[in-house]
Amino acid sequence: MRNKLIALLLAFVFLTGCAKQQSAAHTRTVFAMDTVMNLTVYDGDAEAALDAAEQELHRLDALLARGTEGSAVYTLNRDGAVSDATTARLLKQSREISLLTGGAFDPTVAPVLELWGFGSGAGEHRVPSDEELASALAYVEFNRIGFGEDNDVTLELPAQLDLGGIAKGWSGQRAREILQERGVGSAAIDLGGDVALLGSKPGGANWRVAIKDPAGGGYLGIFETAGDVYVATSGVYERYFEENGKRYHHIIDPATGHPADSGVVSATVICRDGVWADALATACCVVGADASLALLGSIDTALGVELILVIDDGRVLYTCDGFVPEQENRYTYEQVS
Ligand code: ADP
Ligand code: MG
Repeated sequence: MRNKLIALLLAFVFLTGCAKQQSAAHTRTVFAMDTVMNLTVYDGDAEAALDAAEQELHRLDALLARGTEGSAVYTLNRDGAVSDATTARLLKQSREISLLTGGAFDPTVAPVLELWGFGSGAGEHRVPSDEELASALAYVEFNRIGFGEDNDVTLELPAQLDLGGIAKGWSGQRAREILQERGVGSAAIDLGGDVALLGSKPGGANWRVAIKDPAGGGYLGIFETAGDVYVATSGVYERYFEENGKRYHHIIDPATGHPADSGVVSATVICRDGVWADALATACCVVGADASLALLGSIDTALGVELILVIDDGRVLYTCDGFVPEQENRYTYEQVS
């Protein structure tokens, strides 16, 4: 949480710092999905647009939270069926991403998350036994999700779903769409470090997004962009516990049931689409650097996916021209294609 707050403050400072002269910025803080979100709108009927975006963020929080009784995901996990447009859409998109990543991204990983104490309840963190993991892994399988007519979705119980890997990406995406529909042309939405940018910055300068250093409160560098992108970062340092001197974090490799151990400690994905960015950031931590870079070849180029990967050997690999590395730190930077 502390890391998140620092990252959030950093991102916020960079996003807002240069806009001081433009007194028209309207800001709104929303607490949803366990995250402090900051929305900044630079033009249009800002307050009305912010009201609508805030409402949608709360609606999505209530709809997608696995632990909230009555949410669509809660109902699907309990009854094995639900009819809901957002859930159906997100699961169809998840299927595409799951196929592309060879199952590294898989929302049916929920029972395994639960065993490690990263589930919906206030479950206690602990290292599960091999037997427990094997029986939970038996239900980790995307094919247990079925799609019917309209927005009908089924789940072959006792499989369980968790949309924690994409809920924020979808929220950022929707908030951005709503602002745009209401006539806003320039806005920055900070979802606890992940950022959705709409249009270009007032005055035409590039947006500057600070990319956090997984090792501490500093940052890896600045990503400069003209706008209309989503920047998502997943890291194995975000949520973890320690047992017998070993760290266990919240991004699970569905192939093993154990926390991902791919060498990638932090993955930032820049992409036009929020859901893709969010899901891929999680998946990159699972599959590792080589496979992440190889994925770029099979993703629709219209999505404009770029990566910034921090490896546990101290290297930072990045694919984008807009990334300006921080000079004074422990990392070695390599631009790769
Ligand atoms: P955050 O930014 O909130 O830390 P991430 O975008 O990094 O979240 O996603 C991590 C979350 O995704 C976990 O808390 C869990 O809910 C879910 N998750 C963990 N492993 C996987 C996986 N292999 N596939 C899909 N979702 C996952
Ligand atoms: Mg994610």
